[in-house]
Amino acid sequence: MKELLGDSLRERGISRRALLQYASYMTSLLALPPSAAAAMADGLAKARRQAVIWLSFQECTGCTESLTRSFSPSLEDLIFDFISLDYHHTLQSASGEAAEAARRQSMQDNKGKYVVVVDGSVPLGDGGVYSMIAGQTNAAMLAETVEHAAAVIAVGTCAAFGGLPEADPNPTGAVPISKLVSGKPVINIPGCPPMPQAMAGTIAHILSFGKLPELDALNRPRAFFGESIHDRCYRRPFYERGLFAKSFDDEGARQGWCLYELGCKGPVTYNACATQKWNGGVSFPIQSGHGCIGCSEPRFWDRGGLYKPLSAGTTDVRKVIAIAAVAGAALGAGSAALARRRAAATTKES
Ligand code: SF4
Repeated sequence: MKELLGDSLRERGISRRALLQYASYMTSLLALPPSAAAAMADGLAKARRQAVIWLSFQECTGCTESLTRSFSPSLEDLIFDFISLDYHHTLQSASGEAAEAARRQSMQDNKGKYVVVVDGSVPLGDGGVYSMIAGQTNAAMLAETVEHAAAVIAVGTCAAFGGLPEADPNPTGAVPISKLVSGKPVINIPGCPPMPQAMAGTIAHILSFGKLPELDALNRPRAFFGESIHDRCYRRPFYERGLFAKSFDDEGARQGWCLYELGCKGPVTYNACATQKWNGGVSFPIQSGHGCIGCSEPRFWDRGGLYKPLSAGTTDVRKVIAIAAVAGAALGAGSAALARRRAAATTKES
């Protein structure tokens, strides 16, 4: 493979025009002005191989499955090909001591320049014995690897927020990556699993412009996590009209009505599923008839159950309004008003 991405793409028959089209797509995803497309194309063409060390801790490999099974062939794949993935438990051919030697060699060769990607949370309970690699606790391996990294990307909800391992009663003492890294940026790309487009877009931004994309208060790239599922859901008109499916097989469900009363967490969940969709843009959970479970938000597993409506369990208007206010704070003023309206209507019904 050539050293520069531009050379590599040319070798693969990717024209400048195709690169510009991709850059236009990415700049629109990243909410950058159209004029940034040419700069991104130039930046990508001149980018050098980015050394990446990928650490997998308390996780299920779903994040890697998601990222490697993005629809292909695509330019995203080529960009991922261009990354020098120097260490990855699932994808590397080396094993045992050779694998650990590759990680340390990359750290030495790319000191201060490599990016560490982490999926999975880190167990701190009982000295960290619940997850160890090559005789090292996950916490020790993380500390050693990030020491000279340029940036850290926490991929998936376990790495970003603790995820399922951290769910009550958190038997392993799991913590997110941001709790253990200081003095350098940690970008969170949550989701169970995360969207491959968010990962590709974030890396494309770093490669092109040499800096991190704009992040939200939870350190998520704003371009992919700036709007709620509810903001862009195609069932939203049914929500506005008060048409809600009451069970997964009733007439409302067959008509595609809103899934709010079946536990949809779309109003308080920020991700790009409703616009980017999955499996090459084919569908996303709500389109397949299941409410959003809020997997890209902190503590999603403990926050009320997958099938319990956001407003369920109380007839106390203050509590319902409080729920709406939390949703509203995240959603923005316009959507807050809608959430309050829905909360008030629910209270009235109950
Ligand atoms: S509550 Fe869920 S199904 Fe209903 S409009 Fe919002 S995101 Fe879509």
